[in-house]
Amino acid sequence: MTVEFLSVGTEILLGNIVNTNAAYLSERCAAFGLSCYHQSVVGDNEERLEGALCLALSRSDIVILSGGLGPTKDDLTKEVTAKVFGRELVEDAHTKERITEYFRRSQSRKITDNNWKQALVPEGAIVIDNDNGTAPGLILEQDFDGEMKRAILLPGPPNELKPMFEKDIAPYLNAQQPEGIYSCMVKLCGIGESRAESMITDLLKSQENPTLAPYAKTGEVHLRVTARAKDEKEAQQIMHPMLTELRNRFGNLIYTEEEDVTLEEMVVRLLAGKHMTVTTAESCTGGRLAGRIMNVSGASDVYSEGYITYSNEAKHKLLGVKKETLEKYSAVSPQTAEEMARGAALAAEADVALSVTGIAGPGGGTPEKPVGLVYIGCYVNGNVRVEECHFNGNRDKVRDSAVVKALTILREQIWDGVF
Ligand code: ATP
Ligand code: MG
Repeated sequence: MTVEFLSVGTEILLGNIVNTNAAYLSERCAAFGLSCYHQSVVGDNEERLEGALCLALSRSDIVILSGGLGPTKDDLTKEVTAKVFGRELVEDAHTKERITEYFRRSQSRKITDNNWKQALVPEGAIVIDNDNGTAPGLILEQDFDGEMKRAILLPGPPNELKPMFEKDIAPYLNAQQPEGIYSCMVKLCGIGESRAESMITDLLKSQENPTLAPYAKTGEVHLRVTARAKDEKEAQQIMHPMLTELRNRFGNLIYTEEEDVTLEEMVVRLLAGKHMTVTTAESCTGGRLAGRIMNVSGASDVYSEGYITYSNEAKHKLLGVKKETLEKYSAVSPQTAEEMARGAALAAEADVALSVTGIAGPGGGTPEKPVGLVYIGCYVNGNVRVEECHFNGNRDKVRDSAVVKALTILREQIWDGVF
C-alpha cells in the first residue's frame, strides 16, 4: 500500500517553518510498512491545493495532508478535499460540543464566530478528536474509478498532529494492511551512532522479519524493531529473539524500551524511586538542562531549585566557586565544574547536582580550549565525577549535546548496575 504526504502552508514554501511534520509522518508510516514515493508542499491556494491533491490521489492509495485546518480564511484543506471527494460540508454535533468545551476550559480565550467553521466536516468523513486543539482530524474513503483512495487530514501544529497520529491514525493504518505492523523502540544513551551500528552490523545485514532500523538523535541512538504479524501476540514472539539479542549487546546503555519515554523522564523516575533530589548549575547551557528535567511531569518531586551562573561573579556568588580556582584554571575547567557541582548541591540542599561549563561557540575558543569543550560535573554522596567532553556542531548542537550527556552521566552515577 502506498502513502503520500501533502503539507499545506505558504509558510513552509517560504522557508519560515521547517516541515517537521513530513519527516515525522514518513518515519512513522515507514515503520508501518507503507511505501512512500512522493512528498509535496503546497501553499494556501485553492487551485494549486486541488491540483496537488488530485495528483497525489492519482498515484497513491493514501494521502496524508497536514495543515490548513484552522479557523481562518487561508485554511482551505478541508474545503478543497470535500470538493475533490464531491462531499458537502455538514456540521458535526460532537465536534461542536468538543470545541465549546475546549474554550470553556481555556478561559482566557474567547470563542469567535469563525471557530464554528471547525465543526463543519465533509459528509461521511470519519471524525478524529483533537485532544490538544480545536480542529478535528478527518478521514475520507472513496472509490475513484474502481480504486479505493483515502485522504487523512491532520492539523498543522506538531503538538496536535503527533498525539492524534499515535492515538487514532496509526491503528487505522494498521487495520488497512493484510498483516499488521507492530514495532517497539529500544533507546540507548552513552554510545555514539557509529559504535552502536558497528555492534549490530550482522543483525542489520540479516534482517527480514523483524526488521531493525537505527536512528541517531542528539546524544542518543534509537533502534526500532518492527515485525509483520497477524496480531500483537504473534508480533511479540517474532520480536523476542531480536530484543533479547539487543539487550545482551547493549546492556545498561538501554535506558528504556518504552516508545514515548524520554531520557529525562527515566532520570526523574530513577531519582524519585530512590527518593533523591537533584539540582543544576549551568553556564553554557543557560538553563536548558533544568528545562529538560522540567519537561517531565512530576519533576517537582525531585527538583526544587537550580542556578544559571554565566559569569565568573555568579559562579562565585551563587555557588561558592573560589576566585582562585577561576583565576588559576578558568571557568571552563574540571576544577570549576567540580566546585560548581559541590556548591549547587550545598546551596540547594540536594542529593545530586549536575554542573555544566564549556565553550559553546562560535567565538571564545582557543587552541587549548576549543569550541565544543565542555566539562560536566556530577555530585552524588560527597563525590564529584567530572567528565571532559568534546562536542561537534554549532552553538545549539553543542548545548544540546551537553544537556543529553549530563543526563546520561547522572543516570550512570545513580544506577545500581555496572557501566
Ligand atoms: P491552526 O488551527 O493553528 O491554524 P492548521 O491546521 O490550520 O492549524 P496551519 O495553519 O497550516 O495549521 O499551521 C499552524 C502552525 O502549525 C504553523 O504556524 C506551524 O507552526 C505548524 N505547522 C504547520 N505545518 C507544519 C509542518 N508541516 N511542519 C511543522 N510545523 C508545521
Ligand atoms: Mg491555520
